[in-house]
Amino acid sequence: MVDIKETIKKAAYEEGADLLGFADHEGKTAVVLAYYSAGDLDLGGLDRKAERIASRVRRAGFKAEVISACDGGGVSLRRLAEKAGLGFIGKSGLLITERFGPHVRLAGLQINTELPVQEGAGPAKGGCNGCMLCVKACPAGAIERRDASRCRDFVEGMGEGRCTACIDVCPFKVKG
Ligand code: SF4
Ligand code: SF4
Repeated sequence: MVDIKETIKKAAYEEGADLLGFADHEGKTAVVLAYYSAGDLDLGGLDRKAERIASRVRRAGFKAEVISACDGGGVSLRRLAEKAGLGFIGKSGLLITERFGPHVRLAGLQINTELPVQEGAGPAKGGCNGCMLCVKACPAGAIERRDASRCRDFVEGMGEGRCTACIDVCPFKVKG
């Protein structure tokens, strides 16, 4: 009998994933992949990686579908990643991992079977604790006001630019 979890692990690492976790998700199992990224990473490319893994899962006899990194269809890959133990969601709203801090991009898929998961086993480490650095650094006040539209509007107003203030100040960021 196929060990589907091993199949997924092998496929994920062949697709270059840096971190991998499994979480219960509405009677199915979510597979979350995290890729180290210090800059932009093509989200469509991440979906294609997830689709290749999903194809392998289907060939093993299971149903599998991609949870899009571009548009998760209402499913938050960050929440699933946190549930799968890959990190914690900081005040910035970003997933903070132990190895790469906030420098990760996520991809994922869900399969129609329940696999053993080890939820919440990741590097939560007390989360942000008293840190307020990103709250203070955000030029749009989006974190303080918990208003994602402020971030969106600010970034759109930058044109070609990219705001990384909340990543740059995070003490968990990868020191390069
Ligand atoms: S990307 Fe910039 S504007 Fe958006 S939350 Fe982070 S610091 Fe604020
Ligand atoms: S900068 Fe501080 S408050 Fe913001 S996510 Fe990082 S640890 Fe948390």
